[in-house]
Amino acid sequence: MTRKRNLFGLDRAGLERVMAELGEPAYRARQLYVWLYRRRARSLEAMTDLGKGLRSRLESQFEICWPAVASREHSRDGTIKYLFRLDGEATIESVFIPEERRRTICISTQAGCPLRCAFCLTGIAGYKRNLEPWEILGQVAAVMDETARLEKPWNVVVMGMGEPLLNYEATVRALRILMDPEGFAIAPKKLTLSTVGILPALEKLMAEPVRPNLAISLHAPEPGLRRRLMPIEGKYRLDDVIAAAQRYPIPRGGRVTYEYVLLKDVNDSPAHARQLARLLGGSRAKVNLIPLNPAAEIPFGAPAPEAVDAFAGVLAAAHVTVSVRRPRGQDILAACGQLHLRDATGGASGSRASAR
Ligand code: SAH
Repeated sequence: MTRKRNLFGLDRAGLERVMAELGEPAYRARQLYVWLYRRRARSLEAMTDLGKGLRSRLESQFEICWPAVASREHSRDGTIKYLFRLDGEATIESVFIPEERRRTICISTQAGCPLRCAFCLTGIAGYKRNLEPWEILGQVAAVMDETARLEKPWNVVVMGMGEPLLNYEATVRALRILMDPEGFAIAPKKLTLSTVGILPALEKLMAEPVRPNLAISLHAPEPGLRRRLMPIEGKYRLDDVIAAAQRYPIPRGGRVTYEYVLLKDVNDSPAHARQLARLLGGSRAKVNLIPLNPAAEIPFGAPAPEAVDAFAGVLAAAHVTVSVRRPRGQDILAACGQLHLRDATGGASGSRASAR
């Protein structure tokens, strides 16, 4: 028997093709779409208004498949890290982060990451492949499903494993369905995509009719240092990335976020802060400082708390909006830069945490 095709992850046009194959009218595709993404039905059986005949014809050829949760790890601070085991060797991680007034899901777009930023465990641990739309969307569906009882607004951040703009097509397909009011209905301002700034893809994203918030991984105030930390600087340069990001269409009063990971004695001095302020001053920018989340394999140290305060102080004095990201889930390696591929035995390089 041939393998059933997965309906989950198909967009409206894809579902219309499915219905056309079955000789069904296009409005059936819309019903299916709402069941898949708004109601997040996990079986065709649940879709009662499709009619029994159509359901059984669909069932003979199609299935609804979400990525399988292989394990969950619970942090002391309430953060939950999900491990999904995909086909073959690929694994991905997603993170659920409860906050006072909202809850956030951090999703991955690649199994591992090819960029090899020097301070990021994801890149250090290696790269397998791009994810498909169903694997990206499925992380959101699975995590939402498990925490459905909490009544707080959702945020989604594309800040997990991988570089989303190196997997542009699949990522944008997933984002469209996430932001669609008939889909997951995540408001665009509650969705943030973080990128090192893959310029051709960033230009394409700007041309999308509905776009997420943009966060740019900067991490250094000048090209030489950035290149030492982020090899991609050799291809897409700091100044060009900032120039493009400043053209990113955002609502009035909105800002582009610039992420800056603080590495002890590497990029965390007041002089670096002044340089950063000069670089971004006067633009629609806000800086999000991320004190390094350490791991055994990461060859850098976390900055002293005083260095973080001083750095933020310099930016604020220069009228650059600045915030400091509070680490979440550090004890289970769930914080920024700590997600990573697992080997086939399920072991995690560097993981100190135990499953629940
Ligand atoms: N590839 C995208 C998406 C990852 S987002 C990007 O680079 O933007 C994850 C954010 O956490 C990025 O800003 C990344 O640079 C940052 N990060 C990576 N390693 C980190 C670490 N060890 N501690 C703190 N932040 C880290």
